[in-house]
Amino acid sequence: MTIGIIAAMAEELEILLNDLKLIEKREKANMTFHKGTLYGKDVVAVVCGIGKVNSAICTQILASEYNVDKVINVGVAGGIGKEIYPGDIVVAENLVQHDMDTTAFGDKMGQIPRLDTFDFKCDKEMVAIAKKACEQISELNSFTGRIASGDQFVANIEKIQWLEKEFGAISCEMEGASIAQVCYLNSIPFVVIRSISDNANNGAHMDYQKFVPIAVKNSTKILKQMLELM
Ligand code: SAH
Repeated sequence: MTIGIIAAMAEELEILLNDLKLIEKREKANMTFHKGTLYGKDVVAVVCGIGKVNSAICTQILASEYNVDKVINVGVAGGIGKEIYPGDIVVAENLVQHDMDTTAFGDKMGQIPRLDTFDFKCDKEMVAIAKKACEQISELNSFTGRIASGDQFVANIEKIQWLEKEFGAISCEMEGASIAQVCYLNSIPFVVIRSISDNANNGAHMDYQKFVPIAVKNSTKILKQMLELM
């Protein structure tokens, strides 16, 4: 079994890459694919770049060229709701693309036209393992629910209120739902695990700068525990 591990930014994968026993490194589409073993599992770990196009390209390469059996996306994200704070963990149960809009045709906001699903559901077993990993790392607060992805750094209150009301999202980021769509189209089980870097509100970019290191540490901890449980 080979697990594809995707992070959007180098800093999100740094700790993991230090622990990875490298077998082979290959460049494709401006991305470096690190094939090796990580905590005893065969993995291909890659930084895909920010946004849905980068993450979709990356996931398709993992599917077509590396035949990965599962995909895990880790990284940081904006938290939605009063109870969720920087450093907390979000395990996605399902994901939507909040910037997909063909409402002019009567479609629901977020619906990808002519696709037979509204949201992209994470693999139940992988979600269960991620939740177990969260329970075992008991110092971390964790949440499970919907992540909304879009090509936008969300940094205003109206937008997060809308994401909560429209989609029931507990977190927002810029890659997860596109990775999820590619996995769905290729029938690859996946899960998205993020740690909160900011509350997606006014000033989110300031919190983001401050909290990314701790969020990265926490999401990495969960991923490590998860790989050990898999
Ligand atoms: N110039 C910044 C851009 C960061 S974009 C930089 O290069 O560091 C934010 C990244 O973190 C994306 O990969 C996204 O998935 C995630 N993220 C964290 N907080 C977010 C928020 N409030 N809204 C959207 N994405 C967020």
